[in-house]
Amino acid sequence: AHLQMEDALVLYPSPAIGHLISMVELAKLILSHHPFFSFKILITSLPFNVGSTAPYIDRVSASIPSITFHHLPSVSVPPISSAHHETLAFEVFRLSNPHVHEALQSISHSCTIRAFIMDSFCFPALAVAADFKIPAYFFFTSGAGCLASFLYLPTIHQNTTKSLKDLDTHLDMPGIPPVSPTDLAKPILDRTDKAYEGFLNLSIHLPKAAGIIVNTFESLEPRALKAILDGLCVPNDPTPPIYCIGPLIAANDRTGGNECLTWLDSQPSGSVVFLCFGSLGLFSKEQLNEIAVGLERSGQRFLWVVRSPPPEDQTRRFLAPPEPDLDLLLPNGFLERTKYRGLVVKSWAPQVAVLNHDSVGGFVTHCGWNSALEAVCAGVPMVAWPLYAEQRFNRVILVEEMKLALPMVESENGFVKAAEVENRVKELMESEEGNSIGKRILNMKEAAKAAVSDGGSSRVALTKLVESWNRGRGEA
Ligand code: UDP
Repeated sequence: AHLQMEDALVLYPSPAIGHLISMVELAKLILSHHPFFSFKILITSLPFNVGSTAPYIDRVSASIPSITFHHLPSVSVPPISSAHHETLAFEVFRLSNPHVHEALQSISHSCTIRAFIMDSFCFPALAVAADFKIPAYFFFTSGAGCLASFLYLPTIHQNTTKSLKDLDTHLDMPGIPPVSPTDLAKPILDRTDKAYEGFLNLSIHLPKAAGIIVNTFESLEPRALKAILDGLCVPNDPTPPIYCIGPLIAANDRTGGNECLTWLDSQPSGSVVFLCFGSLGLFSKEQLNEIAVGLERSGQRFLWVVRSPPPEDQTRRFLAPPEPDLDLLLPNGFLERTKYRGLVVKSWAPQVAVLNHDSVGGFVTHCGWNSALEAVCAGVPMVAWPLYAEQRFNRVILVEEMKLALPMVESENGFVKAAEVENRVKELMESEEGNSIGKRILNMKEAAKAAVSDGGSSRVALTKLVESWNRGRGEA
């Protein structure tokens, strides 16, 4: 008898929780429109805190039978001198290639692998997919503006011998507003750092894939997308097809967090500012204090997710922080004085549900791309306070290009004073400017809905993507 081989897609996410969730959401999206695929997700382990992935993986495995996780053996990374944990991640992905090879081999015994979709950080695996002649795609978990800057990095690299941090002009890149070099991700600022080499390599690999899937939608980033599609970002080589399939929003399947939703129920419509800083954002005790003072003086209602400060012991800096002791961290009497108009929650809030609650009218965000998309989909205007990764870049895009956020302005050393918190939060909630940002983001919310409805640009892109894999289906 002839055994029908299963059609599989192999996904290779970065295990950092934000990236992992996006990849799983991509799998769910494909599954809901094209239920004949099964999904094999390769999981590496990284030697630093990537958020709580194990419970998440367990929940997904238990609830979606078509998705199975394959844990790759861990690799040991020789000591590296680089200030950036991304360097470690690139090394892990490079050293994991033999394991990816074995995984593809073993999966292909029982499945026809239609495509290999990797996070852009996992670019070394492009070579493995090529060995198996499997079409390989990148899934870019940030926006098209950020993609444009990555695609253009090799050109910038060729045009100067300096480190980006030493360039004293704004950078002009196709399709995006001028950015100061210091608004780019820290690890790419110093040319002599190994992290720079990793990002440059990533950027060089991006156009070599069969396609790049981006978590965005056409009407959110028309200018960046046009520049990419016109080939301006990769001047000397062809640009692969770009599939904008977003916005992909994480389903809120974490448990807990009901306390904040119940509290929000008791607040007036559109009155509450939500402050939340991604899966990894941490502040010093001094900075937490300034936020508290600023919020108190603003007189606004607020829901604030507070985490413990980063540990002083450098050897512990890659570990997840302990539950915060609010009495120790926040100003004396703060919780008591603000209890009728503010709620502080420890470590984590169900962000998507919170943003979509009718009482929430503003969002102070660290500008992680998922958070920005979630705000767009909920129609909640933002104050942009970037902390790490490509978030400073996202602030430029959110504030100057999209005009969906007000900037939080840091002083020289990156510190934000209480007065700035107070003024920005008030500006967002009470000013003309805040109001017009609010209107713009409501329009964008509608555009997002249109993009993912039948016949919308993101649905059309998804269909094209899947059709490109199905060519050849049924021939075996
Ligand atoms: N998130 C959440 N509650 C929190 C912090 C984060 O639900 O208290 C979710 C948020 O909704 C988003 C993700 O975690 O989906 C964070 O992704 P993002 O890209 O914004 O930032 P990252 O954590 O990758 O820096």
